[in-house]
Amino acid sequence: MKISKVETFVLSNKLEQSFFFSQWAYNERRICVVKITTDQGVYGWGEGYGPADVIQKGIALLEPLLMGKNPLENESLWFEMYRKTLDFARRSVLFAAISAIDIALWDIKGKALNLPVSTLLGGQHRNKVVPYATGLYFSDSKTLVQDLVAEAKGYVNQGFKAIKMKVGLSIKEDVRNVKSVRAAIGPDIQLMVDSNHAYSLREAVELARKIEPYDIGWFEEPVSPEFYDQYAQLRNKTSIPIAGGECEYLRYGFLQLLQNKSVDIAQVEICASGGLTEVKRIASLASSFGVEVIPHVWGTGIGFHAALHFIANIEPLPGRLFPPDIFIEYDRTENAIRDRLTFPTVKMDKGYIEVPQSPGLGIDIDPIALKEFSTTSKPY
Ligand code: MG
Repeated sequence: MKISKVETFVLSNKLEQSFFFSQWAYNERRICVVKITTDQGVYGWGEGYGPADVIQKGIALLEPLLMGKNPLENESLWFEMYRKTLDFARRSVLFAAISAIDIALWDIKGKALNLPVSTLLGGQHRNKVVPYATGLYFSDSKTLVQDLVAEAKGYVNQGFKAIKMKVGLSIKEDVRNVKSVRAAIGPDIQLMVDSNHAYSLREAVELARKIEPYDIGWFEEPVSPEFYDQYAQLRNKTSIPIAGGECEYLRYGFLQLLQNKSVDIAQVEICASGGLTEVKRIASLASSFGVEVIPHVWGTGIGFHAALHFIANIEPLPGRLFPPDIFIEYDRTENAIRDRLTFPTVKMDKGYIEVPQSPGLGIDIDPIALKEFSTTSKPY
């Protein structure tokens, strides 16, 4: 089997309603996906996380390394892409391009061998995963607190057992918002907060201490991802678990987080930090430090399904007769591309999402949606 074609698609969808978080506003979804086809007609899909147009160029740069190669030798192809880019693209967006290609190769391998990706990764420790709702972003609404409360209650009504909300507006507003949301959802729903590295260490300590009474599942990206030691200092000053890693690349980046004792929860982004090949290594690395791995997930159903297979394969930490569930992040903001691009669609049943048992990632692409969202004129 040989790789015969590499196609990229930059997909775009203007949002009906823009929203923002501590760093910038979203008014468009823009995502690069890749389709890799073999001479035997088997194809796989992958996705990169980050600036879509740059990722598309990155995949074009890597394409000559792939053409004519055996897609089943995905680990050696990964190493060739890594080796040929290391000198000028260390821990950069180019790894989102490598990640997208890597995911597509795993999809091909699963289809070629008639096995789900989770089986190829080594098997399923769980066949269903608990989604947590990511939402509760900021808006210019004059009734932001009431809006957040209504949105949070909506997630509870939909069956979510855990919710993540944004912080990073200001300490005063964050405390007010967290307090209101906790009061609205009651004590039995897990509540996490994410500041997207909005704060200095001093501010993060202050916010953590002020929201500790509201039973916070984790405080995500409290400070800049550059400050490994500040993460560690914060961990020693609050009872709230600290999460981070969505801006980190490769096992070498995660080694920094782990050696510095920066996080309780390492959040790999499969579509950027090196693909399934590399996040499996990162999960092994994290387990040797006793650190939990819960992936960051954002984008289309391709990345979401890659995450489902990856999570199915994460070793329970610690092992026990009834091991704890591992969350999957389920972004609930407006995302027509995710909702329409792939099928079958994601379904939550009784608070769980099942890991697909069909070959590869277990999804295919709706050609009509692909054409509709695609910004390029390349035919499907
Ligand atoms: Mg985050």
